[in-house]
Amino acid sequence: YATLSAVVKEQTSPFNGKEAALLVEELRSNFNTGRTKSYEWRISQLQSIARMIDEKEKCITEALYQDLSKPELEAFLAEISNTKSSCMLAIKELKNWMAPETVKTSVTTFPSSAQIVSEPLGVVLVISAWNFPFLLSVEPVIGAIAAGNAVVLKPSEIAPAASSLLAKLFSEYLDNTTIRVIEGGVPETTALLDQKWDKIFFTGGARVARIIMAAAAKNLTPVVLELGGKCPALVDSDVNLQVAARRIIAGKWACNSGQACIGVDYVITTKDFASKLIDALKTELETFFGQNALESKDLSRIVNSFHFKRLESMLKENGVANKIVHGGQTTEDKLKISPTILLDVPEASSMMQEEIFGPLLPVITVQKIEDGFQVIRSKPKPLAAYLFTNSTELQKQFVQNVSAGGMTINDTVLHVTVKDLPFGGVGESGIGAYHGKFSYETFSHKKGVLYRSFSGDADLRYPPYTPKKKMV
Ligand code: NAD
Repeated sequence: YATLSAVVKEQTSPFNGKEAALLVEELRSNFNTGRTKSYEWRISQLQSIARMIDEKEKCITEALYQDLSKPELEAFLAEISNTKSSCMLAIKELKNWMAPETVKTSVTTFPSSAQIVSEPLGVVLVISAWNFPFLLSVEPVIGAIAAGNAVVLKPSEIAPAASSLLAKLFSEYLDNTTIRVIEGGVPETTALLDQKWDKIFFTGGARVARIIMAAAAKNLTPVVLELGGKCPALVDSDVNLQVAARRIIAGKWACNSGQACIGVDYVITTKDFASKLIDALKTELETFFGQNALESKDLSRIVNSFHFKRLESMLKENGVANKIVHGGQTTEDKLKISPTILLDVPEASSMMQEEIFGPLLPVITVQKIEDGFQVIRSKPKPLAAYLFTNSTELQKQFVQNVSAGGMTINDTVLHVTVKDLPFGGVGESGIGAYHGKFSYETFSHKKGVLYRSFSGDADLRYPPYTPKKKMV
């Protein structure tokens, strides 16, 4: 990783509560100068991010390979080009987003005019996760900058190469008086959470989200929580089998080896159809990853040995190991687990109770496809839900009756790429949303402003409140 090591410096100083307080104080005083509010500042920072992505694409790809063995094309499509397109959209639309919106007024205020004016929230904190460490760090920062905030980014320590690269690149490309990266794990994040922020934008799991929300509550700080959950794919028997199988694979194993918040967690299908679907998945898996998937360069590894062991123990659990119908091979030295399919694992197993976040795919069977709705509803609301069917009636029922952060019908994960769709969870899968204009709005306060002149000063509202006034 010659390019990467040339760019990334050793992180030197530890970060404690005192430094966190000084950091926020400095950023707040710089925010208070008003500099970040100007269109010029916002656009220049966004342009710098776009330039950073163009100029440092190779380093970013190398960092993602170092942290996750992420295949180059997967890294490019899912992280680099996706982040760049969000940045370009913000650059293109910023003037429109910033423009006050004129709204109707009422008879009570006549004559008057009214506007919704967006204002930045102030100094915001972005805490991100390790699985898409570049995208999940930079995408919210784009929204925070577009909305005119000062921002601190705390990337995940579990993807250390991406974390230190982000620290280095932000200091090289962006205005460091208002935009900073603080690296670290629990102690550093705790020090940051002890400060007063104007918004905390968190991507991660539900356990830590509760810590974030409790810390935010002390200062009434609003939060966005981008979490995960068990994302189901319900597969009807009337589908184009090959296309459905390919798209399920794309949303599971070709998606960071299943380490993705909107990756397919489990499949539900009918008893009669399960074997056909599993056969199609096996055929397409071999086409994509060859006969020995553990050797494939196109399969990301598990991020670290903690998560490798967690997944291995899910597989070894009582009543689960004998349900493997495909795969199940592991190699600890390379931290790889082959694409693994299991049929009807017990509902009480951790594989069906916890978010899997790895390359294991349980297939659950039901008598009728509609019974799948109840399986989904019996679990906390997922971040994404998928349905494969040609039946428009079933599609309608699914959209109306299944609650999830977002959905793609007849495919997986692609709704995340549509910038005009809000991306976020519901219930246990999160609070708030972002992407495109939603990112701008997430980091803005919408201020209602009523403009009056000195004319039309009707007596009606002033005492004395005579009966005659009520008649009017
Ligand atoms: P995590 O919750 O363990 O960590 C997220 C962040 O919180 C990291 O930056 C970490 O340093 C920090 N953190 C960890 N423990 C902490 C503590 N005790 N106090 C304060 N901060 C702490 O999540 P993860 O393992 O990085 O990511 C996996 C989870 O994130 C999965 O549940 C996944 O579904 C979810 N996720 C959601 C999205 C989304 O966009 N909704 C995207 C990716 C991942």
